[in-house]
Amino acid sequence: MPSHNLAKITIDDLDIIGYSIAGEETVIAVPQLDVCFDIGKAPDQIIPINHVLLTHGHMDHAAGIAYYLSHRNFCGQSAGTILAPENLLPPIKDIIDAWARLDGNKLPANLVGVKPGDEFQIKPNLVARVFPTKHSRGSVGFTVIEKRKKIKQEFANLSGPQIVELKKQGVAIDNPIEIPIVTYLGDTQYVDFSQLNYIAESKILIAECTFYVDEHADRAHAGRHMHIDEFVKLIAELNNQYVVVTHTTQRTPMSQIRKILKSQVPPDRFDRIILLMDRSIRS
Ligand SMILES: [Zn+2]
Ligand SMILES: [Zn+2]
Repeated sequence: MPSHNLAKITIDDLDIIGYSIAGEETVIAVPQLDVCFDIGKAPDQIIPINHVLLTHGHMDHAAGIAYYLSHRNFCGQSAGTILAPENLLPPIKDIIDAWARLDGNKLPANLVGVKPGDEFQIKPNLVARVFPTKHSRGSVGFTVIEKRKKIKQEFANLSGPQIVELKKQGVAIDNPIEIPIVTYLGDTQYVDFSQLNYIAESKILIAECTFYVDEHADRAHAGRHMHIDEFVKLIAELNNQYVVVTHTTQRTPMSQIRKILKSQVPPDRFDRIILLMDRSIRS
C-alpha cells in the first residue's frame, strides 16, 4: 500500500504524478524523464526516480530528502542525485548527517549545488537547465530539455552513403537543436518568463497558482506566490501546449478554483490548463 494517494495526469507519452497543496506538500514526478521536482514528504512511488530537482528549502517541498535517500539505500538502489540551489547544500548536508547519526546508517547521496544558467545531464540526450525564480533566497526552477541533432537544410536530400562520405571529410552536416519538454517553476511570484525562450516554448509548464480571490492578493504578495491575476498574465505571455496548475490553497474549494480559472482565463488558454489536484476531473 503506497504511503500517498498521488494525482496522475498523462500527457502524450509522459505521466505526471504528484501531490501539491500550498503549505502542506509539493512533489511532482515525471517518471519517463527520471526526474522528480521537489520531494515533499517522499511518497513511496517516487523513491525509484533517480533525480530530485529541489527548487527551494521550504519544509513542504523538501521535508522528505533524508527519507528518500535512506529508503533507496534500504531497497538496495543506487544513491539518489539531488540537485538543489547551491546556498542550500550546507544545511542539506547537516540534515543528512544528523539523520545518519539518528538512524545509525550512512545515507549515500549525490548532492549537486546548482545556480541559474547551469545544466545537469539527466540522460545522454536530456538535461535539466536551471533558472532563477522569485520566492526565497536562491530559489530556482528547472526545464528538462531534450537535445537532438537535425540535419542541415542543404544536406536534407542526400543519400546515406553521401552523408557518410561528408562525415568522413569532417563536414558538419547537422545542427544541434533543443526541445524543451517540461518546465517546473516551483514556488514563485510573477516573473516575465517569456524572456527565456526554453520556458516560453516548453511543451508542458508546471506552474503554481496559489491564490484565487481578491482578499488573498496580500497573502500572495507576502509569501511571494502567484495570485490568479498574475497567473493569467504569465500564461498569456507563454506558448506552452499544456499548463499544469499546482500549489493550490486549501482556503478556496477546488470547485470554486475551477470556476474562477474558467471565468478569468481566455478560452483558448483555459483549454490548455490541467489542475493537478482536481480529482473530480481525473478518474
Ligand atoms: Zn510551497
Ligand atoms: Zn515555498
